[in-house]
Amino acid sequence: MTIPQDEVGVSRRGAYHDGLRRALAAGRDVLAAGGSALDAVAGAVTALEDDPLFNAGRGSVFTRAGTQEMDACIMNGADRRAGAVAGVFGPRNPVQAARAVMEKSRHVLLIGEGALAFCREQGVAFCEPSYFHTDVRWRELQHALAHGKREPPQYGTVGAVARDRRGDLAAATSTGGMTGKAPGRVGDTPIIGAGTYAENATCAVYATGHGEFFIRYGAAFDIAARLRHAGEPVGRAAQAVIDQLGAAGGSGGVIAVDRGGRLALPFNTAGMYRGFVRDTIAIHTAIYDEPYRSWC
Ligand code: ASP
Repeated sequence: MTIPQDEVGVSRRGAYHDGLRRALAAGRDVLAAGGSALDAVAGAVTALEDDPLFNAGRGSVFTRAGTQEMDACIMNGADRRAGAVAGVFGPRNPVQAARAVMEKSRHVLLIGEGALAFCREQGVAFCEPSYFHTDVRWRELQHALAHGKREPPQYGTVGAVARDRRGDLAAATSTGGMTGKAPGRVGDTPIIGAGTYAENATCAVYATGHGEFFIRYGAAFDIAARLRHAGEPVGRAAQAVIDQLGAAGGSGGVIAVDRGGRLALPFNTAGMYRGFVRDTIAIHTAIYDEPYRSWC
């Protein structure tokens, strides 16, 4: 969910562009130094989790019980290794927790208390509860509780996809979920093939939106499957999946990169915070369907 395109929105847009630029620069710097797509997406998502403007890590939204429960995922396209956490509160960077699951456990997805115990064992950095409390998110919860189902769902998962010099792909995602969600609810973000997917033969995908639809439609995997089995270009495949979700009442968007470095960033909402950088040069960011801003 993006900020409205009204006057208040105009004044806050610059801050969102700055946040996107910082995240893209973090990923770009990794790739420019010859680093891996995996390190690039982890770096970009870590930067977004540290920025309270975005719904992940520090800026996570609240459940209807006034708690925060975060989900995150990372996937390496070269060998389809993946790690994810769900329903966690405490790790400063849930994407780093997901990476620890991928690299240091025999599992793909850990949840709740077990995930937290594992993170502590592995030395993942934790923060005090106050670090994650932002007044803006708290007010959003009060608003959602007061207006109930009359309001559209609030969301804004962060994520990144990348292709490195070797042609390896990776995807990472992180979210506080949807404002006012039920405690215990897990969205599409940590579900491989729903909100996150990467395989070198096809594409890497990150999704944001109404997670229940992305899970039911296997959205991220469907995009990859269209490339693999129907030979569709990534732009058409990603748009088709978003159109299908939209027809079913689901809102959101995806960012995908294919094995040739082609990008797709379709969404069926008013806007989607997004950006890209090619050949490790200029950074481009956008929120609505306006022309991209360019940064060096
Ligand atoms: N997809 C996320 C979820 O359903 C929400 C988001 O995109 O912010 O949990």
